[in-house]
Amino acid sequence: MKRVVIAGCGIAGLEAALNLYKMLGNKVEIIGVDKNRFFSFLPYLHRVASLTLKEEKIIVSLKDFFNNLRSEFFREEVVEIKPEENKIVTTKQTIDYDYLIISLGCKTNFYGIPGAEENCFDFRDAEDAVRLSEHIAKMFFYAKKTDSKEKRRQMLRFTVCGAGATGIELVTELKQYIQYLCKKYGIEKSETELVLVEAMPNVLPGLPEELSKKVVGYTENSLKRLGVKLICNSPVVEVGKDFVKLKDEKFLYTNTVVWCGGLKTHTLIKNSGLKTDRRGYLEVNPYLQSSFKEEFLENVYCAGDVLTFIDKKTGKPLMKIGRHAVDQGKTSAKNIYANVTGKRMVEYVPRTEATVISLGRSDAIGFYGNRVFKGKIALWLKYWIEDGYLKRYKT
Ligand SMILES: Cc1cc2nc3c(=O)[nH]c(=O)nc-3n(C[C@H](O)[C@H](O)[C@H](O)COP(=O)(O)OP(=O)(O)OC[C@H]3O[C@@H](n4cnc5c(N)ncnc54)[C@H](O)[C@@H]3O)c2cc1C
Repeated sequence: MKRVVIAGCGIAGLEAALNLYKMLGNKVEIIGVDKNRFFSFLPYLHRVASLTLKEEKIIVSLKDFFNNLRSEFFREEVVEIKPEENKIVTTKQTIDYDYLIISLGCKTNFYGIPGAEENCFDFRDAEDAVRLSEHIAKMFFYAKKTDSKEKRRQMLRFTVCGAGATGIELVTELKQYIQYLCKKYGIEKSETELVLVEAMPNVLPGLPEELSKKVVGYTENSLKRLGVKLICNSPVVEVGKDFVKLKDEKFLYTNTVVWCGGLKTHTLIKNSGLKTDRRGYLEVNPYLQSSFKEEFLENVYCAGDVLTFIDKKTGKPLMKIGRHAVDQGKTSAKNIYANVTGKRMVEYVPRTEATVISLGRSDAIGFYGNRVFKGKIALWLKYWIEDGYLKRYKT
């Protein structure tokens, strides 16, 4: 029986597993490998951080998920990929494969900024969200007890670095959490401060120009309305235990800094010898196969944030969003099915880019291609789409 190993069980990996099982049943042996026991549904992380959703709602036991597909799951960290030998090496064993799907996602990029990795909260899984939520509540608890005005101010200032979609969703959702904590601990709202720091001149940098014009103004106004202090054009140059230093020598004294500033690829991908772009993301052909020594490998597929894919329509790399991870997971599965059954492979054709960014609990901004929609309807749409995906992995 052929063995398919899925390295990384996030959105792309789970989607690949579901589709492989649907198409091939038990005709192949499926093994999922992930360093975590639980899958975390990232689009709802900010809602866990602010207690709108309970952690249990957004996590899935990977053991249970793969058991339901009558497949195997190993909780192990992948440390090496050996495409020439058809093997991956984990912290515990070496696993042979006939087919490999690389869906390891990417990780937080602290850009080597002194103190950032050590002192910032990372925001990549449910555990991070819970840790942040508990820390914020703790700051209120201690702020209530301190007589030092300076310390109190520091404890009640919450800073998010990076005004991309993740930073915006988090900071706007935290606004409401902080209001709740103010009531609980009897602290005036005016004593708290939520700060969003961005290196570029505006929020949501990286969006195509035409789209940017339509969404930046609305988003920045929403932040203002919610009372979030937005500091643009200010790269962070250092982070300490109780401060953030900005490029203009300005210091923000704060006990809470969350880093949503950027992404990077895994070192093990760079070291695998598989072809990558200059930033280290895997390059693939239209079937999502990876290449080694200038030749495409027939049995190594990639899906999700781990790869780079140039959209023929725009000539630009696709955004790293759930929609693409889902489709690439499906395409990888379909092509393994084609390989196993001798059928024709299918090319991956990206769907129109679409995403919705929540702006607190009653507002959002979303786009579908160049069409923009705003307000409650956009938020409702977000929840409807995300709930649909989450349900797939929960059952
Ligand atoms: C906070 C946050 C909010 C987001 N919100 C949205 C949103 O609202 N809408 C949207 O479309 N997109 C959103 N995204 C982006 C979206 O979640 C990603 O594009 C998507 O999760 C990518 O899927 P993936 O499977 O490639 O990677 P991931 O979902 O990151 O999964 C990668 C998996 O690989 C595992 N892994 C990593 N390294 C190793 C290793 N060495 N060994 C073993 N396992 C490993 C990880 O534990 C993880 O389970 C958000 C991302 C974040 C971080």
